[in-house]
Amino acid sequence: MATTPSLSSASDHPEHSLDQLNRDFEKSAPDQILRKGHELFGEKMVLSTGFGASGVVLMHQLSLVTPGATVFFLDTGLLFDETYELIGRIEQRMNVRFERVLPELSLEEQAAEHGEKLWETQPDLCCEIRKVRPLKAFLSDKEAWITAIRRDQSPTRKDTPVFQKDSHLGVIKISPLATWTEEDIWTYIRLNELPYNPLHDQGYPSIGCFPCTRPVQDGEDIRAGRWAGSSKTECGIHKPS
Ligand code: SF4
Repeated sequence: MATTPSLSSASDHPEHSLDQLNRDFEKSAPDQILRKGHELFGEKMVLSTGFGASGVVLMHQLSLVTPGATVFFLDTGLLFDETYELIGRIEQRMNVRFERVLPELSLEEQAAEHGEKLWETQPDLCCEIRKVRPLKAFLSDKEAWITAIRRDQSPTRKDTPVFQKDSHLGVIKISPLATWTEEDIWTYIRLNELPYNPLHDQGYPSIGCFPCTRPVQDGEDIRAGRWAGSSKTECGIHKPS
């Protein structure tokens, strides 16, 4: 059973206590950070995943710290077949409980309302409808959101703290892998023989929806294949607070 949270909402965390948490946990292993999160927020803490390599590592760590914990994913209806197939393999390997979070509009409704292939004409609106709004709705009764983002993934993520207040979503955002590198992630996956998306072996270090993801070339940024050819680099769920 979850412990009763001693501090239970984003508004209960003044900046100085988050600063203290960051000082205490900057060099901590992810499982220690997850334990602290569970101590503070109990079952009001949830992990989101897009089923990338970092997400696989974090799900595994969470399944060991709090077996049966909730892991949710934003099902845009546009994920790769390999990603959907990976979900079943993770369920067989790890003790986590998946929640599939859907947008209000089906793809057909979105096309009727905003036009065909909205990801080509207005990708920000497409992400808003299929990712940002469902995330906001799902987190509305939660206190803490665990993410697998890392500082080395892109310039926009280089200052990611381990604990931060997400004022857009009204939760504490926890990034236990903030200080990990791509190499750390793959070492962990291989050592623990974890399942992963086969697209990673085909030049896709970062995998999102299939219309907006391409493989990267040698020397490119690991997120260069996301919304390639446009200035868009984030879907909008990870905003600076
Ligand atoms: S990543 Fe592309 S397809 Fe997916 S929600 Fe965003 S714009 Fe739409």
